[in-house]
Amino acid sequence: MPEQLSPLFYSKKVLIVVALSLISRFVAAQEESPATATPPQGYEFSFPALGTLVSFTAYAADESQVQAAFELAEKRVHELEAVLTDYDPASETRKLSEQAVRRPTRVSADLWRMLVSCDAWYVKTDGAFDASLGKLTRLWRKHRRVKRVPSRAEIESALAQTGWQHVVLDTERQSIELLQEGVQLDFGAIGKGYIADRAFEVLVDSGLSCCLVNLSGNLRCGAAPPGRDGWRIDISPLKKGGRPLRRIVIANQAVATSGDLWQFTLVDGQRRSHILDPSTGLGVVGPIAATALAPSATEADACATAACVMGAEQAIQFVDSIPNLELLVATQVDPESQPLVTSTAGFAK
Ligand code: ADP
Ligand code: MG
Repeated sequence: MPEQLSPLFYSKKVLIVVALSLISRFVAAQEESPATATPPQGYEFSFPALGTLVSFTAYAADESQVQAAFELAEKRVHELEAVLTDYDPASETRKLSEQAVRRPTRVSADLWRMLVSCDAWYVKTDGAFDASLGKLTRLWRKHRRVKRVPSRAEIESALAQTGWQHVVLDTERQSIELLQEGVQLDFGAIGKGYIADRAFEVLVDSGLSCCLVNLSGNLRCGAAPPGRDGWRIDISPLKKGGRPLRRIVIANQAVATSGDLWQFTLVDGQRRSHILDPSTGLGVVGPIAATALAPSATEADACATAACVMGAEQAIQFVDSIPNLELLVATQVDPESQPLVTSTAGFAK
């Protein structure tokens, strides 16, 4: 429960820069006019969920309205975490991976929406995005912890239990069937975006149209803060502590960054990401980071991950062919050189 609303700003992968001086200037400007309405103030609230910190920011005149909205949105985040997490054996997602083997199983409304999005992204990206690779994810996660690389046989065995072709969705019944035993659903590449969207909707429905939800670099924002063109977002660098690749200003949009900055394994001297190529079972070769802009955080999250699998050139071509999506990809040939940054023409124009 948000006990304290504070105008402090948290960042992990993406820095949100909100100049507080502008808020006070706005307040001053309002005071000069004869209008009596209370001017909006900026509020921020952060809480832990999904193994990270979730933050809400909003500008509104009524603090109790903000408090109530933040509480509702926080509740929604926890509710969705319980459904979608792959870390809790009791989550609907984890249980489903066993229950649905050769048995069509009805799912909750949220899980159904998630599955439909995953299906669309699998098709759209020609399999680069594949949320059925939980077996592979776990294998690599386990080995990353002990700084080892899985054997070829272990990777082959996980690959045999991976592939969206094993997933059958029945739209009428909103059910799923897994044709292959051992397939594990993994919403790691899209779930945080989905949850950011649902939390954003709660805030907007509660009257906070000028708000931003940040779930570990998966961001969805509404109308621009008072007196501003939009929300300023710094795109994280390829190296920890490096300078942001770019600063963008957005409103009524979503942005997500994926890459190997925070999680990777060294394999034969090569940096391999926690983002996996479903066709080989291996981590994408880094350093690489992709930032996607989209109407929703679900799309931005999925697109940013898929872009890392596709590689810069193919990903830019792919995103160019899809309306309302924009992409920036950064790679680096060697540690001494400058990052190579390419983007679609419309990236935060
Ligand atoms: P992060 O979770 O680090 O913010 P991403 O959104 O890129 O970044 O998600 C990475 C996670 O997505 C992995 O930890 C794994 O659970 C899952 N994943 C990895 N590769 C793929 C892929 N090709 N398609 C779908 N999901 C993937
Ligand atoms: Mg993603």
